[in-house]
Amino acid sequence: MKVKVFVNGYGTIGKRVARAVSLQDDMEVVGVSKLKADCFAREAASRFPLYGIGDLEKYDEAGIRVHGTLEEGLQKADIVVDATPAGIGAKYKELYDKLGLRAIFQGGEKHEVAGFSFNALVNYGKALGRRFIRVVSCNTTGLARTIYPIMREYGVAEAFAVLVRRAADPRESRKGPINAIVPSLHIPSHHGPDLRTVFDIPITTAAVVVPTTIMHLHVVRLRLSREARPSDVVELLSETPRVILVSGGDGLRSTAEIMEMARGLCRGYGDLYEIAVWEDSISVHDGWLHYFQAVHQEADVVPENVDAIRAAMELEEDGLASIRKTDSALGVLHGKVFE
Ligand code: NAD
Repeated sequence: MKVKVFVNGYGTIGKRVARAVSLQDDMEVVGVSKLKADCFAREAASRFPLYGIGDLEKYDEAGIRVHGTLEEGLQKADIVVDATPAGIGAKYKELYDKLGLRAIFQGGEKHEVAGFSFNALVNYGKALGRRFIRVVSCNTTGLARTIYPIMREYGVAEAFAVLVRRAADPRESRKGPINAIVPSLHIPSHHGPDLRTVFDIPITTAAVVVPTTIMHLHVVRLRLSREARPSDVVELLSETPRVILVSGGDGLRSTAEIMEMARGLCRGYGDLYEIAVWEDSISVHDGWLHYFQAVHQEADVVPENVDAIRAAMELEEDGLASIRKTDSALGVLHGKVFE
């Protein structure tokens, strides 16, 4: 029997998670919700059973078929993935609890909403059977994916990362800035403390927002406890799930070219689930390791949500086995692409 998943909030993250769940053989989407009766609700209804929020007549008037109310949809599920905007998930928690549902929240919610922040590679085992799990944000996921394996292998005595953040997702026509670089004036930015909700690491982060929509870029600096050569780090990251190595010398000099490469993989929504580390940037000076990495903010958390469902429902005990299963269904890569 497949685990029944409801996705509440079918926006940037929700639509991708619903698609990823529908590609697994141990879970299925029993419903999704859409707040507005617009073209995106029509898209949702064409793929999954759609449940309405508020007055259901608005969907009828727009000619969109709904199967019932949100609460009726939730009652069909074993677990809900809450992909509503930041802060809204916390308001839904009481309803999920009342209906006896397990719930996966997103990184826009505070750690306390679930009491457990998740990254599949780091703490899958501790997530087994948990009622509430929070999949950390796209940036925190990106930092966890590369720093955690390096910390395990070489130890990290101190860490600093600068996050160059995209201003908006591609569909968000109302957000800016369109012609400014906006620093987050509080240092550390919230990302370092957020990473520490997943594992213990002495990290400071600083963040700036720039006028781009396609990716975040991180500059990572780690003081290693044990000596490593750049080639050791390349080898380690080549074997790390959901991390790919890219090279400027190979024509991938910017986030634009990386996303063009991702579109060529012909995945749903043109997504890049992996964190792309520039191999050319990996360098070691006086015990400090440095590298650049790029994060497709709309996509990297998607496989993590699938693993979080598997852990909460105890469908698979072993984290690496879950990662392999998810990645095989979604075609997620590691190492060097196109080799
Ligand atoms: P989004 O705005 O694209 O999608 C949210 C969806 O929820 C929309 O369809 C909206 O209509 C719907 N919604 C709004 N209020 C609702 C309500 N009361 N009940 C049900 N649905 C409602 O947002 P998103 O970017 O997908 O973000 C969702 C969560 O994922 C947030 O916590 C965010 O921080 C996190 N996240 C976002 C990104 C990203 O880059 N977009 C990356 C990682 C994590």
